[in-house]
Amino acid sequence: MNNWRNAVSERRVEGQRERGIQMLSVQPDTKPKGCAGCNRKIKDRYLLKALDKYWHEDCLKCACCDCRLGEVGSTLYTKANLILCRRDYLRLFGVTGNCAACSKLIPAFEMVMRAKENVYHLDCFACQLCNQRFCVGDKFFLKNNMILCQTDYEEGLMKEGYAPQVR
Ligand SMILES: [Zn+2]
Ligand SMILES: [Zn+2]
Ligand SMILES: [Zn+2]
Ligand SMILES: [Zn+2]
Repeated sequence: MNNWRNAVSERRVEGQRERGIQMLSVQPDTKPKGCAGCNRKIKDRYLLKALDKYWHEDCLKCACCDCRLGEVGSTLYTKANLILCRRDYLRLFGVTGNCAACSKLIPAFEMVMRAKENVYHLDCFACQLCNQRFCVGDKFFLKNNMILCQTDYEEGLMKEGYAPQVR
């Protein structure tokens, strides 16, 4: 039985759904583009381009709070056909977890290390006996929900009645 695991890091929120918004000035001699929000022609001096579509400045809005996304910053988030501002996206989908080592909250979008269903801050992902840090791809051992390096794991195996104490 191979009990070793390879360390993996990942973003807390899976799938990057951040999209850019561009503000373009409309050239007077071009045909007006249709707005993806209201389907009318855009006759303003400026229009927004996002998700490969064109929008009135007033039409590109967050589905939740109705804020104009062209103003809040220049990114929007999409999920299940909803267009959302960053704040609402994080509130709805940015599930945060607690670090299995320090029990503090891990904010959405932060990189984490994962071991089984546990997630850890990058800084917290270390051997819980000698504090050796692991990089992505390094081998570690998970015993009784403790992260162990190879040395400590093998030493533990040699001792009889092995019962690791957390720090
Ligand atoms: Zn429109
Ligand atoms: Zn919003
Ligand atoms: Zn932590
Ligand atoms: Zn160790």
